[in-house]
Amino acid sequence: MPEKKQLNIGLIGTGFMGKTHTFGFASAAKVFDLPFCLCLHTVADVSDEAAAQAAAAFGFRHWSGDWRTLIADPDIDVIDITAPNALHREMALAAIAAGKHVYCEKPLAPLAADALAMAEAAEKAGVRTQVGFNYLCNPMLKLAREIIASGEIGAVRTYRGVHAEDYMRDPAGPFTFRHDPAGGGAMADIGSHALATAEYLLGPVSAVMGDCVTVIAERPDGRGGTRPVAVDDVGRAFLRFAGGASGSLEANWIATGRKMQHDFEIYGEKGALVFSQERFNELHLYSSDDPPGRQGFRRIEAGPQHVPYGRFCVAPGHQLGFNDLKAIEIAGYMDAIAGLGPEPFNFRAGLRIQQLVETIHASSRARSWLDIG
Ligand code: NAD
Repeated sequence: MPEKKQLNIGLIGTGFMGKTHTFGFASAAKVFDLPFCLCLHTVADVSDEAAAQAAAAFGFRHWSGDWRTLIADPDIDVIDITAPNALHREMALAAIAAGKHVYCEKPLAPLAADALAMAEAAEKAGVRTQVGFNYLCNPMLKLAREIIASGEIGAVRTYRGVHAEDYMRDPAGPFTFRHDPAGGGAMADIGSHALATAEYLLGPVSAVMGDCVTVIAERPDGRGGTRPVAVDDVGRAFLRFAGGASGSLEANWIATGRKMQHDFEIYGEKGALVFSQERFNELHLYSSDDPPGRQGFRRIEAGPQHVPYGRFCVAPGHQLGFNDLKAIEIAGYMDAIAGLGPEPFNFRAGLRIQQLVETIHASSRARSWLDIG
């Protein structure tokens, strides 16, 4: 067998997502027949010490306290950005200018104008891009989309989506990059996931009516004082889909007790689908074709029939985990880099989500419906 080309990864940021991406690279290489041999080449963080520690823990060969070192290194093929949102644009544009493929966490950029610049630069340079919308990689979401497309539940009439967690519940929690007035807030941070899922399942949203609320108006600034918070803790939107359905969506990061409620309910003419990310190896299907007295939501459990579940585990019901979704995302991205398939969720798609988020914010400020451009 011919030897696979080596693809060198440069990772920026070693927090929550930096670790998840590292798991993703490691298991994607073992679980999938990737077109490349992946090399965890260099990792960067805010200091040499932090980067060296991460290199040792994650298995990277080199480290740097300056992300620009990775951009300047001709050996690195892919720049993987898991740093705070406000840094995405500068890092991605520098990487694209150096001719590197770029994998960037969501939200793609704080503002849609930034995301547009990033998408256009990548397209002009001909590099391959990927944005981290890992929840879309769940085989049960693919199944839900197939069920809708097959007409099994009839024309979809209504949609309810939510992404609720409680990591910002405590007013004593500090001001973070997620509170940045440029592009922060619950709708951008987790509503972006809910919007991506809504459009993945039902197609484009055509109009929104937003209502975004700041509940905790100031937070500790880490220097003994407080900083005002202007971004939304809760963002809601009524949605109209181009396909005819109407719906609603909520992004809420102060939902006490909720840890990962990335959920949806879809009601069609003759059936329905219900999903919860807290039990993401299950999809609930209702069919009005079931005989009277036997009707009810049926729980479909993930198994090898739900591609690519079987790559991870031969036995149904044994379940995929959060990090596995990143491995699936990475496998699709590697195929795209090799020219074996389309980019699963590129910067242009990330821009689209950013535009939806901004239109919901604008609609909330204007207190009126807005069409999506
Ligand atoms: P985090 O705070 O845990 O990690 C951020 C990392 O970036 C830290 O290691 C920090 O030191 C590093 N960093 C900061 N400034 C840097 C700089 N100038 N150079 C190099 N490194 C720098 O944050 P996180 O939760 O991992 O979030 C990071 C990104 O991932 C955000 O864009 C966030 O929206 C996204 N995210 C995505 C998901 C998902 O499910 N796809 C989940 C959580 C976060």
